[in-house]
Amino acid sequence: MGERHREIVIAGGGVAALEALLALRALAGELPRITLLSPEPDFVLRAGGVLEPFARGTARHVPLALICAAHEAQLVADRLVEVDPQDKAVRTAAGRDMPYDLLVIALGAIERSPFPGAIAFAGRPQDRDAFAAVLVEAREGSIADLVFAVPAGASWPLPAYELALLTAADLSERGARGPHIAIVTPEERPLEMFGSAASDDVERRLAESNIELCTLSRPREHVHGRLEIDGGTGLPADRVIALATLAGPAIPGLPCDEEGFLPIDDHCRVRGALDVFAAGDCTSFPLKQGGLAAQQADAVAGAIAELLGAGGPAEPFRPVLRGLLLTGDEPIYLRAEPEPEPGAGHGPRSVAIEEHASFGLGRPVPGIAATRPLWWPPAKVAGPYIGAYLARPQEPGAQPTRLEDREPHVEAASRRELQAAQDLALMMAEGDARFGDWHAALRALEAAEALTGSLPPQYAQKRDLWRAELAGRPGSTYLGG
Ligand SMILES: Cc1cc2nc3c(=O)[nH]c(=O)nc-3n(C[C@H](O)[C@H](O)[C@H](O)COP(=O)(O)OP(=O)(O)OC[C@H]3O[C@@H](n4cnc5c(N)ncnc54)[C@H](O)[C@@H]3O)c2cc1C
Repeated sequence: MGERHREIVIAGGGVAALEALLALRALAGELPRITLLSPEPDFVLRAGGVLEPFARGTARHVPLALICAAHEAQLVADRLVEVDPQDKAVRTAAGRDMPYDLLVIALGAIERSPFPGAIAFAGRPQDRDAFAAVLVEAREGSIADLVFAVPAGASWPLPAYELALLTAADLSERGARGPHIAIVTPEERPLEMFGSAASDDVERRLAESNIELCTLSRPREHVHGRLEIDGGTGLPADRVIALATLAGPAIPGLPCDEEGFLPIDDHCRVRGALDVFAAGDCTSFPLKQGGLAAQQADAVAGAIAELLGAGGPAEPFRPVLRGLLLTGDEPIYLRAEPEPEPGAGHGPRSVAIEEHASFGLGRPVPGIAATRPLWWPPAKVAGPYIGAYLARPQEPGAQPTRLEDREPHVEAASRRELQAAQDLALMMAEGDARFGDWHAALRALEAAEALTGSLPPQYAQKRDLWRAELAGRPGSTYLGG
């Protein structure tokens, strides 16, 4: 193991930061000293936030202190404000000067209000409350037109489809007449980055739920009961729920593009800054998704392990998109792998990340859509290590496990069949828990979650309690790993 690069600072406490920590421990072992720098005490899985307004699930919180303790990392509760690549030091909001040998930037993106008049949804508590208020209006029948909008620019469009489909399912279950629902998106087809099978499936689900789809439409402004669209058209809208637009963190001392995102190469090294890596929404890669953030973090960990002499040649970042679309009915698992550009892909290390940028931006990609899990554990954020880590507890001292792809099942089950299968799995889980077999109980919950894409809230709570029992710390609300 090389002695030179031993002090690793990871700035951030989200998907990319955690994946980097788990992957580094898996690939480089115990030797490097790792410090996690995060202003927030908890890791928050925002992907679950779409379920909160419907009381179908929660955005999961995991104390970073627990994850760091389980993976021998030091946690510093502070905020990065500047990097000095010459002195190899990070400056923090509290005035610390933290030296590093290798630095991993995983700060995420900055959420901005998308356009005038829209109610932003980025999975934060204030978004949940604002959307919950709109949902009440929809259930009471006091609004006629409800629009979900995907703004132009860097973002992750899938939650807009989830919110629209979950709203339609909620209203239908309550027997409420509800408003007319529409989705407005600049995409040519819904979730086109997953390929045509996914778009076909989503279009069918939208049609079945009476949701109007307006593609190739860039929303501009919500004013006087209308959503104005670039090009002069528009549609009636009493309320517009729009995903946030994202900007990069523009960190003083490091290079960035005009929107503040960090430029990286295909091993996720920050271009023009020695020994600095970046992963996740803060980078210039155009799709901002948790699974991809984690794959970038894996590329970082591989490159660092190689530098430390702890692994073979590092694998570059080669994105595979995995998305779990919650619909209120059976979930849709989506997977797509872009074909390498001719002459790119397995070429020299200097291949720039822009070569992947055609992914999802017009070029057709082969993809799969299925109602049964296309990876296991069937995590919503399908990061190789973090997906497996958050879905199931680890044996103390065990190596982090990796998420694995599965072949698609051809048969589709009805909602009632899936619900019956989930009820059975939940009953098995209760039975195991009664005998204190927390391991078996948690496995049964994992299987139950895979069937519908989410657990009923009381079982999400039980999962945390059972994990605490398994770790020998009853009474805590969450203990992973
Ligand atoms: C509503 C919604 C639903 C989504 N659903 C999915 C989904 O189903 N599947 C999926 O894969 N992705 C989903 N995404 C996208 C996914 O959440 C993001 O792509 C992912 O969280 C990006 O990970 P990240 O680590 O780059 O950033 P984040 O997860 O945002 O983490 C950034 C971290 O950096 C910390 N930080 C910020 N500033 C500083 C600083 N100055 N110093 C130190 N630390 C700092 C923050 O506190 C945070 O811990 C969804 C997003 C939203 C908004």
